[in-house]
Amino acid sequence: MPKDLWNAVEAAGDDNLDSLVYRSQLLGTDRAIVNIYGGNTSAKLESTDHLGRGVEVLWVKGSGSDLATIGSSGFAALRLDEILPLFERSQMSDEEMTWYLERCIFEPGRPRQSIETLLHVFIPAKHVDHTHPDAVISLASSPRGRQVVHEIYGKRAAWAEYVRPGFALSKEIGRLVRNDPDVECVVMAKHGLVTWGDTSEEAYHNTVRIIDEAERYLAAVPDKVIFGPVTVRAPEPKDRNRILTGILPILRGAMSTEKSVVLNVDLGSEILNFVNGSRAPGLSQIGAACPDHLVHTKRLPLFITWNPSDGADSLKRQVLEQVDEYTDAYRDYFNIHHSEGDHMSQPTPRVILIPGLGMITAGPHAFAAEVSRQLYRRAIEAMRGAVKLGGFSSLTPQESFAVEYWPLELYKLSLRPPQKILDGKVALITGGASGIGRATAYLLAFHGAHVAVADIDLVGAKVVAEDIVQRYGFGRAIAIGFDVADENQVMEGFAKCILTYGGLDIVINNAGISSSAPIEHTTLEMWDTTFDVLAKGYFLVAREAFRIWKEQATGGNLIVIASKNSVAAGRSAAAYSAAKAAELHLARCLAEEGGSQGIRVNSILPDAVLRGSKIWSSSWRGGRAKAYGIPPEQLEEHYRQRTTLQVNVYPEDVAEAALFFASPASSKTTGGLLTVDGGISAAYAR
Ligand code: NAD
Repeated sequence: MPKDLWNAVEAAGDDNLDSLVYRSQLLGTDRAIVNIYGGNTSAKLESTDHLGRGVEVLWVKGSGSDLATIGSSGFAALRLDEILPLFERSQMSDEEMTWYLERCIFEPGRPRQSIETLLHVFIPAKHVDHTHPDAVISLASSPRGRQVVHEIYGKRAAWAEYVRPGFALSKEIGRLVRNDPDVECVVMAKHGLVTWGDTSEEAYHNTVRIIDEAERYLAAVPDKVIFGPVTVRAPEPKDRNRILTGILPILRGAMSTEKSVVLNVDLGSEILNFVNGSRAPGLSQIGAACPDHLVHTKRLPLFITWNPSDGADSLKRQVLEQVDEYTDAYRDYFNIHHSEGDHMSQPTPRVILIPGLGMITAGPHAFAAEVSRQLYRRAIEAMRGAVKLGGFSSLTPQESFAVEYWPLELYKLSLRPPQKILDGKVALITGGASGIGRATAYLLAFHGAHVAVADIDLVGAKVVAEDIVQRYGFGRAIAIGFDVADENQVMEGFAKCILTYGGLDIVINNAGISSSAPIEHTTLEMWDTTFDVLAKGYFLVAREAFRIWKEQATGGNLIVIASKNSVAAGRSAAAYSAAKAAELHLARCLAEEGGSQGIRVNSILPDAVLRGSKIWSSSWRGGRAKAYGIPPEQLEEHYRQRTTLQVNVYPEDVAEAALFFASPASSKTTGGLLTVDGGISAAYAR
């Protein structure tokens, strides 16, 4: 049941914008009332214009914001008296409506008003809420919806048949409310709920009360096995993760042929309860319950026909075949319904349901995949309620197309930030907690990539990942703790990346340690440790990356942070130099091996990246001092001069080189060596 959370102190009064913000956030925090990015709220408030005249202003949610997090700047402000006369019109196109409303702006610089603004205008109450509560969507998407709404609310509710949002729907709702003083709410078929009040508090209480009545009614309907008897035996969690890590790159590859997508996996019990039910394949293919779900889930999810008892190999085949079938069907849907000027969106599914495993959602970035995930969960709840009432009916393909390709809906997409070169790409960076790895993680994230910050220092990796998420948004980075020299840890670390993003495009082999001593002081332990991290570790990471890329079949991009020492012998650093040479040769071998499959392997040869790097620690310098036979203070001076006078290389400079190899700018280069040496010292390949 929705909780009534109203708190008069926090509400900060009634007739002001703050109170509208408060009410909106309160409604938005309950996702069973308001979908993420869905719903809209308004208040009609007295104000004063620039000439000191009193005006009535409609404050209405701006396009593209989410009620849960909306602030006062998320609302548009329009002159109400200039819009009200529109109620007298008999029709108005979307273009005319947008043109007209733009001329009624009271306060410039605010976002464009919600596409459902006229609905708020034509309802005479001061405060209006338009929500998509699960329980009411169940009524709205039931073939018996009108009758059930009448049973629950009697004359207190009006029923509006489905019309695509816009002038006609707003006018119809205005008419229903204005003509009948007993009406307390409107249930819009296959769409949602409208409620109102004279004060913000009254509107909120009304909204919650009406939803509560629907929920109570549904709860009283005897529970049957809603989604049908379970015909699938879900694998044990351990096997399920193994199957998923095997299948996700294949799925992501098949979905990324036009543009790279990021996947999200939901294994929740509510999802399994749905996908394992015998009625799920049929129910899931009926269509979307309301426009709000549709724009983030597409009209239909892809329901993979597979039973875990068929085995993982059969799932791989099914995934490839069925993604193809889905995209063909989507192209047909577009071809049948499109008009001149429509451009087909990516034809791959946004939601994939797999019996026994769960739900996978896809999007151009992690947040979009998360929004789809949340909305399909809402769709399942709406279906649950509707099935209880006797059946589920959805928007028709034609109605769906009209929403999906509605210019006002597409306008919201145009509000998104401009495209970046690494959009939809996933990069894993070893040694990402410090120095060059950290700088590279930040730079790739800045250019749109999702970053797995892998390091033996998990605490440090978390600091980097959390800061990247803070700067670039939901899911943009994760921290993974692993030792590159440990085979199992490397495999598990890559699996974690796969389970988070569905695949991988860029791997930066960067983790490093230093060792420095004349050969006679180089212990076997020093030699082995250096080779463990820099040679064996780079091999293990590269091998895992290749395995995934071959399954994903989208090519791949391996970047090796080698060293000047890979090509130029380093005095008193035989172990380090030899291991760095091994890295470089490994990279060139892999460039040969991966080329035919679109896997590029390039190396960067930095020299003396002093600032921000831990490998130039005092022990390394101490070792050098010993090697050169000079006191450590003098060595410090040696490095100071090198930094200030000659070699001036920063981790960020190496990161720029990594970005070049990670980006399409270098798409014609493999087996390459790029020196980053300050432009003075000799890190060139000899
Ligand atoms: P750094 O010490 O600042 O960072 C290295 C990171 O690797 C650290 O976060 C460390 O925790 C991590 N790491 C160490 N061992 C690991 C292991 N076994 N598994 C996973 N993570 C491990 O060093 P940096 O200067 O940023 O060096 C990065 C790479 O650049 C290294 O391969 C290094 O050899 C190379 N390089 C550095 C310089 C330089 O002057 N700094 C010059 C040439 C090449």
